[in-house]
Amino acid sequence: MSTELPWRLAEMTTQEAADAVGRAPIVVVPAGAFEQHGPGMPLATDTIRAEQVADRVARALGGRVVIGPSLPVGVSPHHLAFAGTVTLTTTTFAAVVREYADSLYRHGWRKVFVLTGHGGNNAALTTVAQDLLTTRPDLQFAWSPLTALASDVVAGMEVSEVHGHSGEAETAQMLHLAPHLVHTDRLAAGTTSTAGLTPLARLSRTSGHPTLTVRYDHLTANGVLGDPRHATAHDGKAIVDTAVTRVTAFLTQWLDA
Ligand SMILES: [Zn+2]
Repeated sequence: MSTELPWRLAEMTTQEAADAVGRAPIVVVPAGAFEQHGPGMPLATDTIRAEQVADRVARALGGRVVIGPSLPVGVSPHHLAFAGTVTLTTTTFAAVVREYADSLYRHGWRKVFVLTGHGGNNAALTTVAQDLLTTRPDLQFAWSPLTALASDVVAGMEVSEVHGHSGEAETAQMLHLAPHLVHTDRLAAGTTSTAGLTPLARLSRTSGHPTLTVRYDHLTANGVLGDPRHATAHDGKAIVDTAVTRVTAFLTQWLDA
């Protein structure tokens, strides 16, 4: 048996949770989504990636952080045209995050870190962070999108001109973290170039121009941006390892701050 300290709150007793506050003053909350990930990957892809990276971070920190309850459903209205997608509104998602933080605060935690595998949660997390500055001034709240932590690694991969959701980088992570859930025989290219977008969508994705928010079924027929058939577990490991290293470095400094 492992002699490592436990780090998942879900597996602790209430007494163990009370004891953990002192040695593990940061709670890491994995946030995901329940949404289509194209023809080859599962609906929980974002949650799975966030949980697995959070777990690796906690292991690297030797039990000096705990993993809190995951947020398995996020803000995904743009994916609702695809079967199986379940979404919260931004206000509901933000309220859930705030109430998680309030609950953890009650038990003594003053540092909460949300790691989101789903970019659709970013805006709501920003608002929660802003609100907590006044509603919980002695609570520190940090958050990060997952893949963006390793954007330099992704830039060095062979990716399509248009890539992102269920594309090369995300599929690579799943091939590394949960290969049994990737149907490699069903992976298919989605929209891979700006030529496949309407002129307005193309302009909207160009920096220096306003952003028009559209549904995903207006961007890609199969729900994919990029070509996941080019994804490799090797690239996925590089993305995950980089994300783990950078979150671990941040949390290490935060523990001492
Ligand atoms: Zn995703």
